Amino acid sequence: MLREREEGGEKVFILRGLIEIRIPKDVYKKLEKRHSKEYIISFAEEKKVLNRVTGRELVFITKESGIPLFGHSAFGIIDRGTNLLQVRNVTGCNLNCIFCSVDEGRSSRTRNADFIVDPDYMLEELESVVEFKGEGVELHLDGQGEPFLYPYMEYFLERASKIKGIGVVSIQSNGTLLNDEKISAIEDYVTRINLSISSLDEKTAKTLHGLYSVKKVKEVAEMIANSKMDLLIAPVWIPGYNNKEIPKIIEFALEIGAGKRYPPLGIQKYIPYRYGRKVGKSMPFKEFYQKLREYEKEYGVKLVLSPEDFGMERRPRLECPFRRGERVRARIVCEGRLKGEKICVARNRSIAVNTDRKVGDFVEFEVVSTKDGIIVGVER
Ligand code: SF4
Repeated sequence: MLREREEGGEKVFILRGLIEIRIPKDVYKKLEKRHSKEYIISFAEEKKVLNRVTGRELVFITKESGIPLFGHSAFGIIDRGTNLLQVRNVTGCNLNCIFCSVDEGRSSRTRNADFIVDPDYMLEELESVVEFKGEGVELHLDGQGEPFLYPYMEYFLERASKIKGIGVVSIQSNGTLLNDEKISAIEDYVTRINLSISSLDEKTAKTLHGLYSVKKVKEVAEMIANSKMDLLIAPVWIPGYNNKEIPKIIEFALEIGAGKRYPPLGIQKYIPYRYGRKVGKSMPFKEFYQKLREYEKEYGVKLVLSPEDFGMERRPRLECPFRRGERVRARIVCEGRLKGEKICVARNRSIAVNTDRKVGDFVEFEVVSTKDGIIVGVER
């Protein structure tokens, strides 16, 4: 669980394969005389904490950090007014897909810091929000990156699946970090895995994702289909890149028995986002749905999906304590997700604020967006 080495002038610890702690060697040597390794890792003031996979600063969000799990889109809990809650335990991805909507991976140009949430803190907050939402809640683990990078995944899933009111636990994944052992360890707690496979051809897959093995991800898909969990294969259709792959992926999903309880496929349309990576124009919605309908007829499978196919329904949403246009003064508590962003805390919400001020400073900002309880501010 804890690996260590010395590198240049630093003592380096790798905790649970993801969390990299770097302490200047001279500082470590002094502390070592009086404290244990674990104490130094937790309490040394002079240290850097990084996401080993992306190389970015990693902000560890615990209850004691005072950083709320509501209000930000990169971490915590997102309530869009239905019985589904998006749960974001970790940011960062081991892939660098050329179409990534959140510009993830080590080659990202827009991301500034990563976040990881303490599992007990997340579980405690989920318990109260699920109680508010009522019965039949779906926890959907997705986010800005690969959810299976979360080093507390099994611990978290076992407990989350037992929260009163949870009906479904689903996870979005690129599949590259899964294997037989991990699938067996979680199959009792997870209802469905949405596996993103956008090509079955190794060469096309390398163009799309960089370092990637179609063979391995296909094996993972079959393991999931043969487990107690359901499998939904979710390719992103990128015109000019994987047009020929889509029918092959449909055939593969049907062949391995994806979709025991839910639809077997969730084909997504590539959409260029402001802070995402762009690979040309996207297909117009009309054309996209027309093509999906043609494939529906050809393969006899439902491809045009609606929220009802996943048991989603409207539910009261948590009240947002901010209004667009209001001015707020708050303290910056940590680095922001994007370059040029910092995170402020006010009224039990984490707020992404565009500012060049430093952590610890106070900033006055205007709330420019509160959509779905995600609050964004701009310094004024
Ligand atoms: S797997 Fe998903 S999050 Fe990771 S780089 Fe690819 S598209 Fe982005």
